[in-house]
Amino acid sequence: MNLNDDIRFLKGIGPKKCERLNKMDIYTLKDLLGHYPRRYIDRRKIKKISDLSPGEKALVRTEILDITTKPSFNKGEKQIFKLLVRDDSGVLVITFFNMKYKFTFFNIGDEFLFYGKAEFTRNGLTMLHPEFSKADSENFMGIIPIYSQTQGFTSREMTKFQLQAINSLDHFYDPLPIALRKNLALADMGFAIRNIHFPKTVDALKTAKYRLIFDEFLFMRLAMKYTARTNHEQKGLCFASVDLTEFTNLLPFDLTQGQMKALDEITCDMESNKTMNRLLQGDVGSGKTVVAAIAMYKAVKNGYQAVMMAPTEILANQHYHELRTYFEKLGFSVGYLTGSLGKTKKNELYNVISQGECDIIFGTHALIQDEVQYRNLGLIITDEQHRFGVKQRMKLKYKAKNPDVLIMSATPIPRTLAGILYADLDLSVIDQLPKGRKETITKVRTRKNRRKVYDFLYSQVKSGRQAYVVAPLISENESMDLKSVLEIASGISKMYNDIEVRYIHGEMSSDEKDEIMTDFTIGKIDVLVATVLIEVGINVPNATIMVIENAERFGLAQLHQLRGRVGRGDKQSYCILINNGDSDVAMKRAEIMERSSDGFFIANEDLNLRGPGDIFGVRQHGIPEFKIADIVKHNKILEEAIEAADSVLLNDPDLCAEEHQDLKKKIFEMYDIIL
Ligand code: ADP
Ligand code: MG
Repeated sequence: MNLNDDIRFLKGIGPKKCERLNKMDIYTLKDLLGHYPRRYIDRRKIKKISDLSPGEKALVRTEILDITTKPSFNKGEKQIFKLLVRDDSGVLVITFFNMKYKFTFFNIGDEFLFYGKAEFTRNGLTMLHPEFSKADSENFMGIIPIYSQTQGFTSREMTKFQLQAINSLDHFYDPLPIALRKNLALADMGFAIRNIHFPKTVDALKTAKYRLIFDEFLFMRLAMKYTARTNHEQKGLCFASVDLTEFTNLLPFDLTQGQMKALDEITCDMESNKTMNRLLQGDVGSGKTVVAAIAMYKAVKNGYQAVMMAPTEILANQHYHELRTYFEKLGFSVGYLTGSLGKTKKNELYNVISQGECDIIFGTHALIQDEVQYRNLGLIITDEQHRFGVKQRMKLKYKAKNPDVLIMSATPIPRTLAGILYADLDLSVIDQLPKGRKETITKVRTRKNRRKVYDFLYSQVKSGRQAYVVAPLISENESMDLKSVLEIASGISKMYNDIEVRYIHGEMSSDEKDEIMTDFTIGKIDVLVATVLIEVGINVPNATIMVIENAERFGLAQLHQLRGRVGRGDKQSYCILINNGDSDVAMKRAEIMERSSDGFFIANEDLNLRGPGDIFGVRQHGIPEFKIADIVKHNKILEEAIEAADSVLLNDPDLCAEEHQDLKKKIFEMYDIIL
C-alpha cells in the first residue's frame, strides 16, 4: 500500500470506524501515521515479585498457580476473578472485579506477563486489573506507545491500526533532500515513523523524535521565509494619508508614546506599496486594540473594508461593542460575524459583506469560511494571534488580493520562536502601559486561607469594584481535587447574599455568554466566576480583583494573561492565586508571579522552569502546527532547523532546484500556500 491510500483499506476498519477516524482528520495512511503516541510506558524490564513497591507500576513474569471465581459481595455486580501467581522470588494475587466473561484463557501452569500497580491488601500483595499477555507474545514488552483516547478508540485499538499501517507500507516518502539528511545525521522517514510508534530502544525513540521535531520546525521556517519573500515582491495597496484626528478626538485619552510609535510604523506600511505584514506586540493592557482600530479607520477612509478576527466569541463580541460606537459615530457600517449566528442572519451578512455595504467586520474564525466573500478587503487584523494557527492567518490573507495584515499578540515570545512562527512578519512593540496604571498586587494563598480571600473580595465588591474568579473545571468531578465554576459560584452566593454572582463557561450558548459578559461590563454583575474562557483580551476596567483557584494547574503564561484582566484602569488591582498542594513548580511559578508583572521576564522564567523534560513525556506547548515539537523543550533542535532552512533558501531562494521539489510541495500543502 501507499501513504495516500484510504484507511478503509486496512483490515478491521469498516465504515463506522472509518467515519470516527475521519472525525479525527484521519483519512489516509499518512494521516494515521501522523497521529503519534501521546506518551509511552516503559515495559522493558521484568521485576521480581519480591522487588515490587506498592503503588508503583511494574511488569512481572509469572506462572499461574491457582484460579478462583467468586460471586461479588455487592448485589448487582458480576463475579470476582482471582489468580494466584508466582515467580522465583514470591507469590502475588491478581484480582479482576466485576467481570462479565470467564477468563478461560488462563490455565494453571501457564506463564503470563502482568503489568499493573501492586498494593498490599488483606489477601497479601495484590495487583488489581493489570494488563496482561501470554509470556511468549510479542509487542507486550518493550516501550509501549499510548495513544490519546479520541472518538472512543482505545490506545490498544489505535496501536493495532498503526501496526497494520506500518506493516502494509513498503516505501516511506521522505521530503528531505538526502544531502541535508546526511549532513545533519538525521534518521530517514521510514525509521522515524516506525520508531515513533514502536520504538525498539530509547535511542531509537530519541532519534525518531529528533527527526520529526526537526521537520516540523524546518517546514515552518521554510514556509514563513518563503512567504516573506514573496510578500516583499508583491505590490500591495497604497493607502492615502488620512487625518486621524477625527477618530482620535473621540477617544477619552491620549495615545501613549508606545502606541504612537507603533501607529507610525503601521501608517508607513499602509502608505507604502509593499504589503504590510506586521506583528504588534505589547503586554496585556498596553492598548493594542485602539491602535488597530485607528488603522481600520484609515483603511475605510480609503474606501476599503477592514476586518478584525478574535479567537473567542466573547472577545470578538467585546471588540464589536467597544469599537462600533466610535465607528458608527463616523458613519461607518459595522458587522459582526461568528459561527453561532443563525443561518438567515449569516446569509444576510454574507450578502452585505460581499456587496461592500459593511465597512468594518468583527468576528471569529467564521470570517475565514469559504462562504464569506469580501468586496474589497484592504486591512486584516488578527487579535491574540498565538491562539490561531499559521494556516488560519494565511487563509484570512487569501481572502483578498494582497491586503495589509496586522496581527496582535501579548504573549512575549523568545526570539528563536519568533524567528519561526513570525519569520514573515515585521515587528512593532508597545513597550509601556497607559499613564496612571498601578501595578497589580499579587499574592499567593493556600486553601486554608480561602475564607479570608473571599472576605477581601467581598469588601472590594462592596466598595464598588468587580471581581473575577477563575477555576479549572466547569462542574464538579469526583476523581479530582479541583474547584469548579458552578461550585464556587454557588458557594460565594451563599456566603455573601447581597452581591450579584454569575458564572460563564464554554458550554453555555453564545447568547447566554454575550448576555453575561454585557451585564458584567456594564456593572450589573459583581463577581464573574469563569473558566479560562476569559483568559485573553477581556477588558472591564472596573474589575480589580482576580482570584485564581487551583492556580497550580495553570502555566505561567496563562497566569500572566489571566492577571492581565485586572489592572486595566487607574484603580489598585489585586490578583490572588490559591494554590492547592505544595508542588515545587507551582510554588516557583507563584513566586515569579508575586515578584514580577513583566511579561518578558515571566516568559523567560517559564523557559527556565520547564527545561528539557523527559523522553517519555507529553507535549506541552500548544502551537497547532507542531504535533510533537515543543519550542521550549526542543530549543536546540529549533536552532538547528532554522539554520538548515536558511541555508537551503540561501542557495535556492525560490526552491526551484530539483532536489527541493518534494520539500516545496510539502510546505505548500502544509500551509495552504497559494501564489
Ligand atoms: P491589550 O493591549 O491588552 O489588548 P486593550 O487594547 O484592551 O489592551 O486596552 C486596555 C485598556 O486600556 C482599555 O480599556 C483601553 O481603552 C485603555 N487604553 C488604551 N490606550 C490607552 C491610553 N493611551 N490611555 C489610557 N487608557 C488606554
Ligand atoms: Mg487585547
